[in-house]
Amino acid sequence: MNALPPNEGRSWWLREALARPEFAGDPCPPLDTDTKADVVILGGGYTGMWTAWFLKELDPGLDIVLLEQDICGGGPSGRNGGFVNSFWDDLDFLAERFGDAPALRICRAGQESVEAIGRFCEEHDIDAWYTVEGTLSVATSTAQIGAWADLILAVDRMGLSDTITVLSRDEVRAMVDSPVFHAGVLTKAGGTVHPARLARGLRRVLLERGVRIHEGTHVSRFGAGDPAIADTSGGTVRADAAVLAVNAWAQHWRRFKRVITVRGSYIVMTAPAPDRLAAINWTGGVAVSDHRSAIHYLRTTPDGRIAFGIGGMQPDLARHIDQRFGYDEGSIRVAVEDLHRMFPSFADVPIEAGWGGPIDVSGDHLAFFGTLENGNVHYGLGFTGNGVGPAHLGGRILAHRVLAKYDDVLALPLVDLEPRRFPPEPIRSVGAMITNRAIHRRDVALDGEEIPNPFVDFVAKLPRRLGYNLGP
Ligand SMILES: Cc1cc2nc3c(=O)[nH]c(=O)nc-3n(C[C@H](O)[C@H](O)[C@H](O)COP(=O)(O)OP(=O)(O)OC[C@H]3O[C@@H](n4cnc5c(N)ncnc54)[C@H](O)[C@@H]3O)c2cc1C
Repeated sequence: MNALPPNEGRSWWLREALARPEFAGDPCPPLDTDTKADVVILGGGYTGMWTAWFLKELDPGLDIVLLEQDICGGGPSGRNGGFVNSFWDDLDFLAERFGDAPALRICRAGQESVEAIGRFCEEHDIDAWYTVEGTLSVATSTAQIGAWADLILAVDRMGLSDTITVLSRDEVRAMVDSPVFHAGVLTKAGGTVHPARLARGLRRVLLERGVRIHEGTHVSRFGAGDPAIADTSGGTVRADAAVLAVNAWAQHWRRFKRVITVRGSYIVMTAPAPDRLAAINWTGGVAVSDHRSAIHYLRTTPDGRIAFGIGGMQPDLARHIDQRFGYDEGSIRVAVEDLHRMFPSFADVPIEAGWGGPIDVSGDHLAFFGTLENGNVHYGLGFTGNGVGPAHLGGRILAHRVLAKYDDVLALPLVDLEPRRFPPEPIRSVGAMITNRAIHRRDVALDGEEIPNPFVDFVAKLPRRLGYNLGP
């Protein structure tokens, strides 16, 4: 096997973007004084930045301060796989949870966001490699074949057969040829983006619009009163309204401890190998994922690399977000091995980078948006590894909430959704670690076309038996 890539501290995407002046941009020094604002936003990922964007669209004179502990895009927004999805792949679950019509409204609103991101990049001259060539979700073991049956039933029932197409093994392999690919489904609406270029491009536009961004500014204490108060080591921001867009870090907030849990997702990036991609027919920009519980997600870049990711990883107990979420040798090794199992012809192509990031998993596998009791503090969390498209929708929701302006998206069931609660600590971390290991052992058995050990299978299925939309 290739040597494992070193821990470079940042994702390949972010390093690539920051090497270019148009994405590095001017520095945004840490907050060093007390200040007031109309709105303070915590978190410089897509959710925080799209919220700022929509706020400025709705009211250009608004004074907005955005505080980011790292740099904008330093978190998952600059580290992800770059799949820009709506909610179409969850249509069956959404219909079961909310009914057909609300499910459809969520998918359509998500779809509008996918398209709006493309338009935003074009209008603001952000070369974020945005492309919509569909998402292929394949069975990578025979056990996964037909995992899409409920989805197809929902699609048929709602007369949406043009959105998602079932493909045979040969049709799948004509698009991307792997010895472990069986049948699959193609969702036409999905796309990909260079995640860090999108994040840094968004940052540039916000600065042009007058948003006051402070990077390297950790909010150590937050008071959800009127005004909302964000304390940092350099100064305090007092604001009429606040938006909490801190993603997985909300796990450290008492208010949100029970409504999200954190998993790691890890990506490895190959060197450019366009000839090898051509040999496996992967010359279009279709993005691929599979139906394992610990999902594989993979896509190409314009210069012929594969970015190969694996979700649902948990480095040990992982009760706090620490550096293991940025780089975990065991998880990176699994990603490399799985990449080579899927594409043996890439076995001698160097792996140039590997990194990870935390995922804010919600019990329903769905983002939720809400407002704290005082009425002036709003939050959006729980993207569960599907936030590139939905965070744009989240920004639209949160901005309208802040300004109390009506928009159709405020009527979506994701708004004021009461998230399913996880058990308290230490049951949650220990339970999650045990089920997570079982899920992996089950996945590995099925990858090898073996029947999983019945006890392992039982434990892996516990979260779903307990009512969570998680695991097999
Ligand atoms: C490896 C990986 C692959 C993924 N792949 C995909 C994909 O292909 N498609 C997809 O749709 N989604 C994917 N995701 C998920 C997606 O990246 C996220 O859902 C999305 O970026 C969430 O945006 P956000 O703004 O809510 O969160 P973030 O990008 O995490 O932003 C939150 C920010 O808040 C900051 N912050 C936290 N606490 C504080 C504090 N106290 N003070 C100041 N700042 C603070 C953090 O530093 C962070 O930058 C992936 C995630 C990972 C980790």
